[in-house]
Amino acid sequence: MLKENFLLKKQKNKINLLDLNFKSMVNFFLKLEEKKFRAIQVMEWIYKKHCVNFDEMNNLSNILKNKLKDISIIQLPECIEEKKSHDGTIKWKLLCHNEFIETIYIPEKNRATLCISSQVGCALKCNFCATGKLGYTRNLLVSEIIGQIWFVINKIHQYKLKNYAVHSITNIVMMGMGEPLLNLRNIIPTIDIITHKYGFHFSKNKVTLSTAGVVPAINKIAGKIDISLAISLHASNDNIRNMIMPINKVYNIKMLLASIKNYLSKSTANRGIVTIEYIMLFNINDNEFHAQELSILLKDISCKINLIPWNSIHNSFYECSSNKRIINFLNYLRNKGFTVTIRKNRGSDINAACGQLIGHNNIIKK
Ligand code: SAH
Repeated sequence: MLKENFLLKKQKNKINLLDLNFKSMVNFFLKLEEKKFRAIQVMEWIYKKHCVNFDEMNNLSNILKNKLKDISIIQLPECIEEKKSHDGTIKWKLLCHNEFIETIYIPEKNRATLCISSQVGCALKCNFCATGKLGYTRNLLVSEIIGQIWFVINKIHQYKLKNYAVHSITNIVMMGMGEPLLNLRNIIPTIDIITHKYGFHFSKNKVTLSTAGVVPAINKIAGKIDISLAISLHASNDNIRNMIMPINKVYNIKMLLASIKNYLSKSTANRGIVTIEYIMLFNINDNEFHAQELSILLKDISCKINLIPWNSIHNSFYECSSNKRIINFLNYLRNKGFTVTIRKNRGSDINAACGQLIGHNNIIKK
């Protein structure tokens, strides 16, 4: 009886298998009165063999294939547009149900990073960020986040078959549209699929979640998820941070640093080092006094600091710090013993750089 209800319910509303991590996939097959190994077979087809067509899954019986077609689908986001930057960065505009999102592929000499979106828009209203200005529409589903990765891995695979000189994806960063920690319910199983041996099987050191500092969520994932963490700190004191990142009025710097320490105490990813992201805004947060404040704040946090030259966006009064100011800032911190890097500006000619993602005026009229 239970089985019948389950099947009936799902016939109306088919399950997208990209929504299921290994545990849920096993439960799915057990409910179908199939063996656990079917979950492994199907996940291997999807994640190892780039196959999302049940008919091609030749180690499944026809009966099982038909059963699967009746109650499930493997549905990917639809590609609407591909734009290529002169520096090799590629931005895809993808349609997820009714909304557009963006996914960015950033190749470098010996690696390639995929930057994925976790929400349509963003609720946090950081006032230097185009996604923040867009406002929040909704959380992306697991299948819509996993679908971005599947889509790009498959694209790169196809390019390789055509002998294009493209690098496979080596790193994944959740630094696209949205705040991943405000979509915890879907981000946790997503990370599981990204790192699981029957999923994409990325090393925890190669997967980075970037957050504006949702303190309760950082505490919640501490000890549960172990991937590299990046924190958008962007200011050396609460006055500045309150001004540029409204979330700071809810969770201030002191609370944020305590949650980072808590996370690091339970994490071995990235050798227990958090990345501190610090956007360089001319005359706002970029003079020596700020560097000094920052060095005091971070003195007992195991971290590396990534300075991000601000990318210009529409309707913003900010200016990016000059190279000279950025280098002075970097040198101050290096002299204090910190590891400091400057994030390369990639893809800004196609609006694919940090903070420029808006899914192109988003939202199809419903
Ligand atoms: N919500 C998450 C991830 C999204 S943005 C977070 O806040 O971390 C990824 C990074 O780009 C963040 O550090 C964000 O603050 C930064 N960013 C936003 N707008 C930017 C801009 N215009 N120029 C440079 N970096 C920007």
